[in-house]
Amino acid sequence: MERLPFIAGNWKMNKTVGEAVDLVRELKTALSGVEEVEVAVAPPYTALFAVYKELEGSPIRLAAQNLYWEEKGAFTGEISPIMLKEAGCHYVIIGHSERRQFFGETDETVNRRIQAALVHNLKVIFCIGETLKEREGGKTFPVIERQIGGGLKGLGDQEVRNTVIAYEPVWAIGTGKTATPEQAEEVHRFIRGKLEKLYSGAVSEGIRIQYGGSVTPENIKGLMKQPDIDGALVGGASLKAESFSKIVRYREM
Ligand code: PEP
Repeated sequence: MERLPFIAGNWKMNKTVGEAVDLVRELKTALSGVEEVEVAVAPPYTALFAVYKELEGSPIRLAAQNLYWEEKGAFTGEISPIMLKEAGCHYVIIGHSERRQFFGETDETVNRRIQAALVHNLKVIFCIGETLKEREGGKTFPVIERQIGGGLKGLGDQEVRNTVIAYEPVWAIGTGKTATPEQAEEVHRFIRGKLEKLYSGAVSEGIRIQYGGSVTPENIKGLMKQPDIDGALVGGASLKAESFSKIVRYREM
């Protein structure tokens, strides 16, 4: 099955409102004429609405980096799915390894966030990945299996179809150490196999699985040649229009 490649930029805690608007302005120009690749950017919360306004009429989608599962109320510091929808978000990243590592995110809280996002018609970029210790201890597959089972718990076929999975080995994020295309493909194939067991062949063949971890204009092409790699979640290299647009235009390189 043909899956539309999907490349998303996770800006993390970078860019003020003004800087974010400048960057999407540059991106609109740098990406004009790009077809057959879906593109999204995930600015910090404070810049979402301004970026949404700047993106009006552009095919670039807006994503948030997290959400809280309640709709409103006494949850100081949190942001609800309704707020993200209103700010123009199409996607939300959930379960990023930095959230798991620094902010106590668990498979259970990831699952609650995913369910809340989908109820409110936000598509989900669901991040999973093993640490270096887990990889070296031969635990990559059990960890991935646990994260998928926990994160997608209770979701039906239609809900999971609105989910993109981002395989991001923690040891490759922000380290400059990319997984080789073969290492990444091995895990992507495993993920697709798991989805087939949990859902069906038709569902697993339709779901896009992004790779994330030190993706650059230099290594994207090799990664995208792999049959089960359907795109990338890009951190550092998404902060400059030049490098991000080269990644999106990987076919032209
Ligand atoms: C990420 O934050 O999702 C990521 C993959 O970061 P980087 O590209 O900087 O490794």
